[in-house]
Amino acid sequence: MKKANKLKMQKMVEFGCVVCRWYEGVDDLPPCNIHHIRDKTGLGMKDEEMIPLCHYHHQGRMGIHTIGKKMWEERYGTQRELHERMKEELNFDID
Ligand SMILES: [Zn+2]
Ligand SMILES: [Zn+2]
Repeated sequence: MKKANKLKMQKMVEFGCVVCRWYEGVDDLPPCNIHHIRDKTGLGMKDEEMIPLCHYHHQGRMGIHTIGKKMWEERYGTQRELHERMKEELNFDID
């Protein structure tokens, strides 16, 4: 993985779960991991299409992988919207 991407991922992890931050108003954000917007694995996947999510909103009870993409996006907005907003707040340059 490229160094720049590693740095971006680190920034995202530090940013914390976007749902907790923007929807739940959590002050002390739980540890999060990176969710890839596209489910495809392997080549062809763009590195930058990721958002940080905590376990609860990722694979937990209200997780996108648990309740399904459609229901999740109805509650929290589309993954792409969240991704765009996160990029703005983190000042990621758009390639
Ligand atoms: Zn969360
Ligand atoms: Zn995921």
